[in-house]
Amino acid sequence: MSHDNCLFCKIAAGEIPSTKVHEDDDFVAFKDIHPAADTHVLVIPRKHVETLSNCTEGDAPLLGKMMILVARLAEQLGCAYTGGDTGFRTVINTGPGGGQEVYHLHAHILAGPRPWKRM
Ligand code: 5GP
Ligand code: ZN
Repeated sequence: MSHDNCLFCKIAAGEIPSTKVHEDDDFVAFKDIHPAADTHVLVIPRKHVETLSNCTEGDAPLLGKMMILVARLAEQLGCAYTGGDTGFRTVINTGPGGGQEVYHLHAHILAGPRPWKRM
């Protein structure tokens, strides 16, 4: 399940410190170390999946749960879409062409006043 020398597996296991905002049996969410916006949280599955491109039909429940968790965390973080100009951005970078730097699947949650930094 966990992958040797994977930074995010180590964060999920608590072997590398992070500011966690959520933890359950399947997922961990923590603040990005170089935030690109006032709110910048990463949501990861505990299961080591390298990229979205590595996902198959069998990962559908995991991905579905991950997206619902993103929505719940946005509420917890105070950036859910509740009308007007509220809301947040969700990003999954995939592969070098998508700007992925850490090869453990993760969804970025970004929100707050513009401008945001490049990520
Ligand atoms: P990617 O480019 O792979 O989609 O995003 C990786 C993200 O992980 C980047 O936004 C980067 O700032 C964040 N990151 C890299 N190393 C660490 C770390 O050790 N701790 C935390 N909390 N975030 C990290
Ligand atoms: Zn991993």
